[in-house]
Amino acid sequence: MKECDIAIIGAGVVGLAIAHKVCNKYSVIVIEAEDSFGKHTSSRNSETIHSGIYYPADTLKAKLCLRGNELLYQYARDNDISFLNCGKYIIASDDSEVSEIHRLFENGNRNGVPNLRLADGKEIEKTEPMVKCLLGVHVPTAGIINSHEFMKSLETKAKEKGALFAYRSKVERIIPENKNYSVITDNGELKCGIVINSAGLFSDKVAESAGIDPSKEGYKLHYCKGEYYKTNSVKKMSTLIYPVPSPDGKSLGIHNRLSTDGSVVFGPNAYYLEENKLDYSLNKKFLEEFKNSLSKFLKADLSDLTPYDCGIRPKLQAPGEKFRDFIIKNEKEKGLANFINLIGIESPGLTSSLAIGEYVETIII
Ligand SMILES: Cc1cc2nc3c(=O)[nH]c(=O)nc-3n(C[C@H](O)[C@H](O)[C@H](O)COP(=O)(O)OP(=O)(O)OC[C@H]3O[C@@H](n4cnc5c(N)ncnc54)[C@H](O)[C@@H]3O)c2cc1C
Repeated sequence: MKECDIAIIGAGVVGLAIAHKVCNKYSVIVIEAEDSFGKHTSSRNSETIHSGIYYPADTLKAKLCLRGNELLYQYARDNDISFLNCGKYIIASDDSEVSEIHRLFENGNRNGVPNLRLADGKEIEKTEPMVKCLLGVHVPTAGIINSHEFMKSLETKAKEKGALFAYRSKVERIIPENKNYSVITDNGELKCGIVINSAGLFSDKVAESAGIDPSKEGYKLHYCKGEYYKTNSVKKMSTLIYPVPSPDGKSLGIHNRLSTDGSVVFGPNAYYLEENKLDYSLNKKFLEEFKNSLSKFLKADLSDLTPYDCGIRPKLQAPGEKFRDFIIKNEKEKGLANFINLIGIESPGLTSSLAIGEYVETIII
């Protein structure tokens, strides 16, 4: 049986960022069911470096996004990761959306997002000629990052500092034993003092495997798919353009997803799956709705929209429910000291990842 200080479950961007941080002090084994890192949500997102403008004040999402934004740009500069601090406009396409622009502007200022500015439609259309809108808020700290390069770098640096990676090892059960834990996988057993559950879409199941009741604790996840489409009408853009977020809080709205080479696709839409099943196929049932959303602000022929890819959000918020924050918690009150759950790490999880690493280290006892 292997032994270490910390077992981290999941090699998505969050598990990798935690490993990169805590391996300075502790011996670490990262346990991952797949044969490599980042095979799920961390490779299926918009790769936007968010600013922190959207989230209610004093929430983990607001604080970790702001701090994570700063850390991520610094990390990308220091480690030669492709990124672009291209900025973003969040736009109102009609009168009914103007008040939301003002609300976001004030919320962002309250959260400490630097240098926000209201911009009129003419300025925005001059920057992005394919876009039509009335007003927007300019968010200069938003940008994009190559998430694969970022994750590869985190894995390499953690390995250099002694972290071990157990790929093709699925955690099946976690048994508390005195002050330690036995982590049982389909590939062997591990003993450790600290368990970090960063299993993304399966984090509620991993918590359950340690004896926690996800329904009772409010940890149950709801899968919410987001699909991306591409069109030949718009191949390059230089600035992120986001509509106002959906009023039900389900998503930030269909926007342009830029790559660091300037290429562009559009998405993601948002719909809950009936069952929590990993299904990465695209459902054309939602294409018309997708097209309508996009044509509200994009002056382009969208008749050739073709499926690109999709991701699944691990949402704590059930359909119809209000905002839910990230859960990042040392479960000592449940008699599981140093069993640390990270549940509901949806957007802005990529942006926040390095700040999550810092935060998790502070709650280890
Ligand atoms: C459509 C979409 C768009 C998004 N856009 C953005 C964005 O622009 N900016 C941003 O900041 N964030 C964005 N996000 C959010 C971001 O992608 C996630 O918050 C982040 O990737 C979560 O990383 P993670 O490591 O928690 O999860 P994951 O990447 O899912 O990693 C979890 C890992 O745990 C492993 N695992 C699960 N169960 C077990 C087990 N039992 N044993 C061993 N291993 C296990 C899985 O195989 C997986 O590799 C978006 C998300 C989606 C879905």
